[in-house]
Amino acid sequence: MHYQAIRGTRDIFPPLSEAFSAFEETAREKAALWGFEELRTPTFEEAGLFQRSIGETTDIVEKEMYVFQDRGGRNLALRPEGTASVARAYIEHEIAKKEKKSRFFYIGSMFRAERPQAGRYREFGQIGFEILGESEPSAEFDLITLADAIFKDFGVKKARLHLNSIGCLACRGDYRQELKNSLEPKAATLCEDCQKRLQRNPFRVLDCKKCSPLLAGLIPPFAKCGACAQHEKILFNLLETLPLPYNHDPKIVRGFDYYTRTVWEFLHPDLGAQSAICSGGRYDNLIKDLGGPEVPAVGLAFGIDRSLEANAAEGKEKPAVTKNKNGVFLCLASNSDAVVSYALKTATLLRENGLGVSYSLFKDSFKSQLRQAGKSRFAYCLILGEDEQKAQSYKLKNLTDGQETDLPWQKLVEKLKC
Ligand code: AMP
Repeated sequence: MHYQAIRGTRDIFPPLSEAFSAFEETAREKAALWGFEELRTPTFEEAGLFQRSIGETTDIVEKEMYVFQDRGGRNLALRPEGTASVARAYIEHEIAKKEKKSRFFYIGSMFRAERPQAGRYREFGQIGFEILGESEPSAEFDLITLADAIFKDFGVKKARLHLNSIGCLACRGDYRQELKNSLEPKAATLCEDCQKRLQRNPFRVLDCKKCSPLLAGLIPPFAKCGACAQHEKILFNLLETLPLPYNHDPKIVRGFDYYTRTVWEFLHPDLGAQSAICSGGRYDNLIKDLGGPEVPAVGLAFGIDRSLEANAAEGKEKPAVTKNKNGVFLCLASNSDAVVSYALKTATLLRENGLGVSYSLFKDSFKSQLRQAGKSRFAYCLILGEDEQKAQSYKLKNLTDGQETDLPWQKLVEKLKC
């Protein structure tokens, strides 16, 4: 019987797995510079947490969550995103009592039963950053500069920031009705989903990829309340100080109910329909709505898979695979017990010295071992036979130029360490 990975999930082999690690490494470095600390939350939670926070009428909750009952009859869900879990953990552990402002980041898989297509997976990686306890637009600014720095460092140059303000609960109510009235005459031309969205949550029509081309001239200007307008103005002024271009884009509304005021997406022009590579927004009511104190907050999340696809789409030269000079592939010229035991002892000692060792478990012919050494990740092969074992020495072969040198232990370690 052949088992296969579930549609929408994938096995990530090298070199892609290495690119994932490199992206995570870049994000971790920047997280430290921006003062974020890692929070690891469970992969599954009570389904109610997501229903309550993301919203009952959102696509994620209505159609995309992996919901299941566990053996105790609890209604659980694989996390479709990270912010709800961070908010739950923040409340559960009463973090607000311990510190006024918190900065957390998380890295992990998210799960959504969306229709798989290029750039859209059912399990995908996210790196998210959340600032809790900060109501000022400088928090949005800080996150946007962080995202920009991560993209720059990783070599994604063409990500373009699209930014909008969706106001607060007070000013959004009236606008919702205005928007509905304005879109209603076009209702029959909208997709089936948007016809329902128009009744239940007209904002959602704006970010529907299918319908948005039909909306030109139909989106009424949004007259926000004084506080929201001021927040937006300060943020725009701050962003003007950066060399980072951005679009004020009223179609960015984001698929979660918990957002207030600022929402944004970094879109990449070379990715087709799934072009959002990093998305974020402010969520000033979420902590309170989930039963916690009144704590304003703002966050963003990178899609790791898509960030790597953006990097590849920019036609980056694939980095030449550099061989690791701090390690060896062991090749045994003899299979005698004494040589095998000498080789295993050598492997242990090299690893204890922080040096890498790989081998083919010695049953293969010497020729085959050399071939495997050539394909290995190490720049050297260490040849051990009867002569080396008797002399307690080591023959190091440089796999690039083929040069062989006999070395005593100390010299071998020095050579491999430099
Ligand atoms: P969201 O949690 O929807 O705000 O998404 C944050 C980021 O995760 C997006 O900008 C995408 O890069 C990525 N993302 C969301 N859904 C998927 C998916 N189904 N497959 C791959 N990446 C995704």
